[in-house]
Amino acid sequence: MSLRENASGYIDYLENWLAQMPQAELSHIIVDPNHTAVLCVDIINGFCTTGPLSSPRVQQIVAPIVTLFKTAYRLGVRHFVLPQDTHAPQAIEFEHYPAHCVRGSVESQTVPELLALPFSDQFTIIEKNSISSSENTALDAWLDTHPEITTFIVTGDCSDLCTHQLALHLRLRANARQTPGVRVIVPANCVQTYDTPVDIAMKLGIPPHHGDLLHAVFLYNMATNGVEVVKELTS
Ligand SMILES: [Zn+2]
Repeated sequence: MSLRENASGYIDYLENWLAQMPQAELSHIIVDPNHTAVLCVDIINGFCTTGPLSSPRVQQIVAPIVTLFKTAYRLGVRHFVLPQDTHAPQAIEFEHYPAHCVRGSVESQTVPELLALPFSDQFTIIEKNSISSSENTALDAWLDTHPEITTFIVTGDCSDLCTHQLALHLRLRANARQTPGVRVIVPANCVQTYDTPVDIAMKLGIPPHHGDLLHAVFLYNMATNGVEVVKELTS
C-alpha cells in the first residue's frame, strides 16, 4: 500500500480535527493578565511581504494577530514577547534557506501593523539566529525573570518551524521542571506556514513544502504534546 493510501484515513481525521477545533474566549483564558504573555514569532517583513521567504499565507495572519494583541492589551496583558530572525550576514542557516532577515535589514523588522499599535514600545524583542527561539537567545533569561507567567499564548510563523519549536519549548520546559499550572495555547487562526508546490519547487530546484498538510500535521503534533490548540481566541 502506498503512503498516500495508507495515510488517507489519518488525513481525513486531521481535516476533521481542524474543522471541529473549539474556539475559546480570551477573557476566559486570561485568568490573571499579570500571569499571561502573548508571544509572536517572526511576524517580520521578511516572512510577510519582502524577500525570498515572504509568504502571502503568513501575511494573512497579521490582521488576526493584531486583533489578538489589542484584545489582550485591553484585558490587561502587558507582556508581549516577539522572537524574531535577526540573522548574522553569514548565518549557517543560509545553507538550508536563502539568505533572509539579516540584522539591520528591512526584512528583519517587525511588520508595520504591529509597530503601529500604541503599546509597541513595550514589546520584548528576542533576537534569534535559527528557527529556535530558545537556542542562544535571551528567551530563557526572560522566562527566568518572569516566573509568574504561567499562560503563554503563542502566535506567528511558521506552524511547522519556529512556532512549533517555540510552543514545544515552552511546554517541555514546564514539563521538565515540573512547573505546575502552565498552559501553552495556540490559536490556529494566528499561525500559518508557507506553500511551495512540487511543480514550482522542481523548476526552481528548491524543496517542496505543502503548506496545508504541514500546518495541519504540526498543529496536531503540538496538540498531542499538551499544547492547547484552539480555532481562535475570541474577544
Ligand atoms: Zn531564519
